[in-house]
Amino acid sequence: MFENKEKTSIDKLGEFGLIDHLTSVIELSSQHTVLGTGDDGALLDAKGKQIVISTDSLVENVHFDMMYTPLKHLGYKAAVANFSDICAMNAVPEQITVSISFSSKYTLESIEELYSGILIACKKYKVDLVGGDTCTIPNGLVINVTAIGYQDAGKEVKRGGAKEGDLLCVTGDLGGAFMGLQLLEREKRVFLENKEMKPDLQDHDYIVGRQLRPEARVDLVNMLAEHEIIPTSMIDVSDGLSSEIFHLSKHSEVDFAVYEDKLPIDQDTYNMAMEFGIDPTTAALNGGEDYEILFTIPQSDYDKVKNSQDISVIGYAREKGMKNQLISKSGNVHDLQAQGWQHE
Ligand code: ADP
Ligand code: MG
Repeated sequence: MFENKEKTSIDKLGEFGLIDHLTSVIELSSQHTVLGTGDDGALLDAKGKQIVISTDSLVENVHFDMMYTPLKHLGYKAAVANFSDICAMNAVPEQITVSISFSSKYTLESIEELYSGILIACKKYKVDLVGGDTCTIPNGLVINVTAIGYQDAGKEVKRGGAKEGDLLCVTGDLGGAFMGLQLLEREKRVFLENKEMKPDLQDHDYIVGRQLRPEARVDLVNMLAEHEIIPTSMIDVSDGLSSEIFHLSKHSEVDFAVYEDKLPIDQDTYNMAMEFGIDPTTAALNGGEDYEILFTIPQSDYDKVKNSQDISVIGYAREKGMKNQLISKSGNVHDLQAQGWQHE
């Protein structure tokens, strides 16, 4: 992508030189993109579709730690996290704009790394990078991504809309990104105590990957269209399942019953939780950043999802006032809390 292996100060290029350099490798692919970077604004043609737009910032030392976050992964994650928000509206992401602000500590090569991660994500998801902003700040690194997606009017899905009796479904598995973060934090502490120590991340590619290089569930949006399912409500799991359940509950004016034994937990996540003395259920309920999609469907659509290996029906919506509750494996009932649940 970029060929440059030294430590070049950005001052050499200047702001416009840097923008030209970064945007020179962009190729456009979406039928909705008329004009990309280079002018005062991008031109998009919605072709009669509903436009969905979402934005998010990642701030150094708030959302990521440069000690264990490769810049390429960070760029990838910044893009994917925004794609995920578009998917959570049942739409397909097709463009992003990217604003990056960084201090003079960052070299040209490091910004190229970040940018190449963003462009790899764009290529994989067929999303066009159509604009952005570039700015220097006194300290650290801030990435802001705005994503734009499309869906036929009437097929977009909001947080509110779940009805009593609807099934609560989730894609993939939960808690992996959280356990990956625990592992990275532990290895960071070990390294800080003894700089000779190499991080021991062996055999944990899955959970470390879930934390550093997540994916967005565009495949779900396509699968729903294929099976002619329009969920009644939808949200992505960025803050943790429990927290997202409360969002759906509040916006839809229903409460949810969730079954502990239905929660999808990967073996690696389970083992690492046990090693850390964390209840795997707690990891699945509270752990954020899995970027799976939580959604509700009418019971009449059950046959369309029941054979999917990648969708778990974890509970159902019921009358408001019954509380959001977890039915444990032993049949005990616990009130969920926005930040998970408490063992009694
Ligand atoms: P303005 O002064 O109008 O804000 P800029 O110099 O910031 O213009 O941007 C010029 C063009 O380059 C615009 O099309 C903008 O979208 C694009 N651009 C600037 N920074 C980036 C970036 N980091 N990534 C992609 N495009 C960018
Ligand atoms: Mg600008």
